[in-house]
Parts: sequence; structure tokens; C-alpha cells
Amino acid sequence: MPAPSPAPEPAGPQEPAGPLPLVLASRRPAGGRGRPPRHLADLPLAERRAVVAGLGQPPFRASQLSRHFFGRYTDRPDEMSDLPLAARDALTQALLPRLLTPERELACDGGTTRKTLWRTFDGALVESVLMRYPDRVTMCVSSQAGCGMACPFCATGQAGLTRNLSTAEIVAQVVAGARMLADGQVPGGTGRVSNVVFMGMGEPLANYASVLAAVRRLTDPVPEGMGISQRSVTVSTVGLVPAIARLAAERLSVTLAVSLHAPDDELRDTLVPVNRRWKVAEVLDAAWGYAATTGRRVSIEYALIRDINDHAWRADLLGSLLTGRLAHVNLIPLNPTPGSKWTASRPAAQREFVRRLEAHGVPVTVRDTRGREIDGACGQLAASASSRTPAPSPASTPSSDPAPSSARR
Ligand code: SAH
Repeated sequence: MPAPSPAPEPAGPQEPAGPLPLVLASRRPAGGRGRPPRHLADLPLAERRAVVAGLGQPPFRASQLSRHFFGRYTDRPDEMSDLPLAARDALTQALLPRLLTPERELACDGGTTRKTLWRTFDGALVESVLMRYPDRVTMCVSSQAGCGMACPFCATGQAGLTRNLSTAEIVAQVVAGARMLADGQVPGGTGRVSNVVFMGMGEPLANYASVLAAVRRLTDPVPEGMGISQRSVTVSTVGLVPAIARLAAERLSVTLAVSLHAPDDELRDTLVPVNRRWKVAEVLDAAWGYAATTGRRVSIEYALIRDINDHAWRADLLGSLLTGRLAHVNLIPLNPTPGSKWTASRPAAQREFVRRLEAHGVPVTVRDTRGREIDGACGQLAASASSRTPAPSPASTPSSDPAPSSARR
């Protein structure tokens, strides 16, 4: 399998590769290569004020617009009665363009898991997933259309990278979920998004600037941002070592998740091809640096794949690497992708894996597998839509709706 040339920082398209058949062809978005339209979520509040002033409006209208979007989850002029009628359209057109159009929506778990496939302004497809639990609501968001990391067990990895999402395209996924909850569309009564995980499509640290700005926008208080707690945000990475160090230096209280999937370089080179650039030891060093700087426990993600990485000796090796560290292991039963010969571990192997990690004193959880029946994991909805839909026809029907992309925590 060709090695992807790992992109340490902003984006880096790679050809997908791997032992699995390509489920779909990577496709350039229909509308060409421009940037998504400017949106207030791309800008700090001060810059929103400048845009508003440029339209001949008093700068405080930027705060009003921001409250509508981040606090009331609306971008509709008719829902902004505090703005003068004459200015509403110009202001919303300038700062609240509709960036995402729902293409498909799926629900399971009695409606408490909702997945949306979105179409962007240029025809790219991305997914987000809302997962409601008794004590929290987690939005799983995409940071890129596609992904260049080429992990062979991941549906998104099979298709390659289409492009980075803008900050506002990321934030809009969360706002759509918030709107759904506020509207009472999710069983359990009205509610709020409490957690955000960057575990949808894409490698967040390969789209560093946009993801970091999205984290700030999600966590800054209204009207600057959405007011979600930093501690409730998780950024998940294949292990782009320089970007992990850079993230640590931001001194945010977000949780870092590292997709390890193998404790030894020989296997990890194939499961997470970027390992050919940054080895297990370097990735873990970066993770411990992150833990030391932020005081936050790092989550080590490990998809259990039958007879591939679920051996007892690998559990012991993993346990020995993690023992005494500020880390816990999140085991993910593999969600098989279409055409894959790989499947989840046998229950006995999974139990033994857990037991051995615990014997090393390493905290371990097994992730729930929400959303499986709706292609809940990892780009599978986009993959199936791409293989079914010959050519995207950008529908321009607006709707503030939610959605998401993988059954994660
Ligand atoms: N690029 C980021 C986010 C990707 S998705 C990363 O790699 O961390 C979040 C997690 O889901 C990652 O740990 C990823 O390896 C895992 N994953 C991808 N495909 C999967 C599958 N088919 N079954 C189980 N986990 C999967």
C-alpha cells in the first residue's frame, strides 16, 4: 500500500491506498475550488463588527447577529426581529450565508442518534452525528471533506481528501445540532449540545488553523462564540506529532485523543500509514507532552480488529507503554466498512484485551457502538451516498438541521 506523504500541518492531499477496495472515487467538488462564502463564525467578533460597519450599519449589529447564530441557532432574517427590516437581508447575506445543506438524515436509537449528511456550497459531502445520552449530548463533527490519512479500516480513508472545511463549516455542524435540540426534535425534551468530538470525517490536525478557530468559536462565550466548555471538546488525531505539540502550546483545556490502533510500529505502519513518518514512540511522547502541558488525560483510541491487532501480547505491550501515564484507552469494536475483510474482535478476545490492560493499571473503556445501523461510523454515510449518487446536484433548500458522523463516545 502506498504510503501517504504525511502532512504535518494544514492539509496535504494524499492518494488513498490500502488493502481494501476503493468504495468510491475521490471527487472534486462540483463547484470548483473557491473558498466557502465568508461567515461570521469564521471571524472573531471584532472583525464581524468591521464587516457590519462596512455595510453602513452600527457595529453592535454584529453582536446581535452573533447572538442569533450562536445563542438562538438561527440564520433566518425572519427570526431576527431586533434587526431593522431593511437591514436584515443585507446583514445575513454578508455574515450568515447558508453553508451546509442537508442531503440525508438518518436516526436510530429511538431518535436519540441522528446523523446528517451535508452538502457544502461546492458539492462536497460531509457528515455529522448527534448522540444524546442521559447526561449529555455529543456532536461528532467532520473537519475535512474526505481524509488524506488513508487508514485502511476507515471508510473516509478510502476516498482520499477532497478539501479542508472552513471554520464556519465545522461550527455550523454543531449549531445545526443545537438547533435540533432547542427545537425539541430529539426525544428527551429540549436540550443543549454539551460535548463536541472531532471524530467525524477528516484529520483535524491536518486542517489546523480552521480547527483551532472552530474550537475557539465553539468554546468562547456568546456572542463571541457558542459557550461550550473546552473540557467537553475532544480533538482526535492519527498522531501528527508537530501539530500535537502546537496544540499543547495553545494551552486549551481540550481533550486529545490519539488513534493508536497498534502498539508496535510494524503493524501501525499499515493500520495508520502516517506512522511511517512518526513512530509509536514519538506519537506517545507528543501525547505525554500534551498531558504534561495541559494536565488533561489523553485518550488512546484502539479499534479492535479480529486477529489483526487484538492479540494478548499486543494488549500487554500497549499496557506496558501506557502504565503510569495520564492516559486511558478507549477500545472501539471495529465497524466493518463495505468490502472489508476485517471485522470486530471476538468477545473473548476483547475481554482478554481489557483484562490485560487493567492488569497493567491502565484505565480502559469500550466505546459504545451507537449509530451502526445508520452507517454511523467514519464516513460510511458519505461513502454510500457517493456510490449511489452519480452527480451531486446542489440543492439549495435551506434548513437548520443537525447531524453527525460517527458513533463515538
Ligand atoms: N482522523 C482522526 C479522526 C478520525 S475518526 C483520527 O484518526 O483520530 C475517529 C476515530 O474512529 C479514529 O480513532 C479512527 O481511527 C476510528 N475509526 C475509523 N474507522 C473506524 C472503523 N471502521 N471502526 C472503528 N473505528 C474506526
